[in-house]
Amino acid sequence: MKTKHRISDHLQNATDMAQGLSLTQAMNEAARCHLCHDAPCSQSCPAGTDPATFIRKLRLRNIKGAIRTVKGNNVLSGICALVCPTEQLCQKGCVAAGMDKAIDIGGIQRFLVEHGWEMKFNPLEKEEKKSGKLAVIGSGPAGLSCAAEVAMAGHDVTIFESMEKAGGVLRYGVPSFRLHGDFLDRELKDLKELGIKFNCGKTITRAGAEGLLKKGYNAVFFAPGTWKTVELNLPGIDLKNVCNARDFLAEMRSADQTKIAQMVKGKNVAVYGGGSVAMDVATTAKSLGANKVYIIYRRSMKEMPAARHDLDMALANYVIFRPMSIVTELMGEKGKLISLKGIETDWKKPGETSSANLVPVEGTEFNLKVDVFVTALGYQAEPASKEICAGVSFSKKGLVETRNDGVTTANPLIFAGGDIVRGPALVVEAVADGKKAGQKIIELFQKEHPGKKVAKRGTR
Ligand SMILES: Cc1cc2nc3c(=O)[nH]c(=O)nc-3n(C[C@H](O)[C@H](O)[C@H](O)COP(=O)(O)OP(=O)(O)OC[C@H]3O[C@@H](n4cnc5c(N)ncnc54)[C@H](O)[C@@H]3O)c2cc1C
Repeated sequence: MKTKHRISDHLQNATDMAQGLSLTQAMNEAARCHLCHDAPCSQSCPAGTDPATFIRKLRLRNIKGAIRTVKGNNVLSGICALVCPTEQLCQKGCVAAGMDKAIDIGGIQRFLVEHGWEMKFNPLEKEEKKSGKLAVIGSGPAGLSCAAEVAMAGHDVTIFESMEKAGGVLRYGVPSFRLHGDFLDRELKDLKELGIKFNCGKTITRAGAEGLLKKGYNAVFFAPGTWKTVELNLPGIDLKNVCNARDFLAEMRSADQTKIAQMVKGKNVAVYGGGSVAMDVATTAKSLGANKVYIIYRRSMKEMPAARHDLDMALANYVIFRPMSIVTELMGEKGKLISLKGIETDWKKPGETSSANLVPVEGTEFNLKVDVFVTALGYQAEPASKEICAGVSFSKKGLVETRNDGVTTANPLIFAGGDIVRGPALVVEAVADGKKAGQKIIELFQKEHPGKKVAKRGTR
């Protein structure tokens, strides 16, 4: 049996996903759990996946019960097991870490989901048919989780998605070595069995949410994410082999990766940014056979926003870090990038580590011979998103403004969640928003059609 990749592993292949735990490994891991009364692991999962309960059930060999808990609480629990920064969430307060190391909660969670597939056991059940009709805009984790919640309550749900395939960033952003398309398809299959209709290749445009309500949908869940990349105004930005992380990663997830592989193989690549997305690009470039890969980041290693796991993965794959540096110019020859110019930075006021406090340091100018330059400076809301929903207020940044619950908007029939509300955030937070909005929408449908009771899902 192949063993699970650890963060220290060097990637062999850009699409090679780590092997999951075996039954014995998962049982051994569960056996280390201290079964804490206050369960910090369960308290710190935004989506309420409840590791304490599924680990306890696994220890008692109630495997079906454990699968019911994990999938019943979080319909994308397999995906979350792969992409969540568990060290910042469920594993953060793990008592076992004080004596040895934290329980591999993500590993156990993934094992349960994959074991359910092996057993052909899908615990997601649909209640008797009811009359509500929900339209979901966007098939990322927020849209999928809301759709599942409402479909399980027996209502009719249709997802509208611009792209050819469902999944949002899970399909077109997160690299395959962390989440393979087959795994995503397998988790989507469980949702499709709930009767959710997927209308892919369909972009909802201006006043589209109202249009859907007029067409007979009783509510809309708006979850288009944030797909506009932060642009960089730099001399040479239009040269060949200069691109942004969104396009780079989407190309990697397309059916044919030859173009991107050719662009990178044997070449020097510079990635500009210090977040997890920058690390994903750098690790992917290395796994495609790039010669040298640099991460250039304006602040210090300490301020890098990347998750520890993603940073370690880049380090393990020999990515070279150039913190406290900015790029000032991209140099080209015959329209093609050949090098970059940069300068080191320092803090104007010592101890104050905001970007506004950075200054370039005279005499520290440097040149790097690079063939590819990828910007990874973050994502923003698409300006067009604002025009889709009438009666919904948006912030200056183009994000939806919600009530205190984080999902109810100024239009009582339109709910929103995921990155379009929070700004770039986490998959598990998008799942949590979708779940919460789903519950609100079920309540709304219940008010409109009082005779039918809303059943609460249990996790036996
Ligand atoms: C490269 C990358 C890597 C990441 N890695 C991680 C990670 O490892 N772990 C983690 O927790 N988080 C990660 N994130 C963040 C995480 O993916 C997002 O927080 C999450 O996907 C947000 O979910 P969402 O449903 O709000 O939006 P999205 O996933 O962005 O999905 C929105 C969907 O709506 C569709 N859409 C947009 N407009 C329309 C329209 N008008 N009509 C129809 N469809 C529309 C889009 O095509 C898209 O499919 C990553 C983000 C990026 C960009």
